Amino acid sequence: MPTPLPCPCGSGKPYAGCCRPYHTGKPAPTPEALMRSRYSAYALDKPDYIMHTTHPRSPHWQPDRTAWRADLSAFSTGVRFVGLRVLATTENTVTFRAILMQGTRDVSFTERSTFERVDGRWLYVSGA
Ligand SMILES: [Zn+2]
Repeated sequence: MPTPLPCPCGSGKPYAGCCRPYHTGKPAPTPEALMRSRYSAYALDKPDYIMHTTHPRSPHWQPDRTAWRADLSAFSTGVRFVGLRVLATTENTVTFRAILMQGTRDVSFTERSTFERVDGRWLYVSGA
């Protein structure tokens, strides 16, 4: 049997039983699940999921969806997504370290992301 694709979010679970259900329409139940599924979406070059889960009030939200999609895709394909570590969570924030490589350059970063629940769906608002 082929080994199932491990989820890029680093959960240790197969993608099919981890972030894929969120990428195909199931609302992520927690900010952490949403954050993980957004990391996976970046890793798998799924810009529409990133746009769909970004709050319209977010500084990252762009009105020109074609340009935004191209920006997201350029990031996804220009960086290697090595891993993700969730460091802390509260009821509406997730602090994480994203381990990323751009060629041989380490472009990893730590961020505390804020999320807001709108009509039953968690959305990414901002990070610092
Ligand atoms: Zn996952």
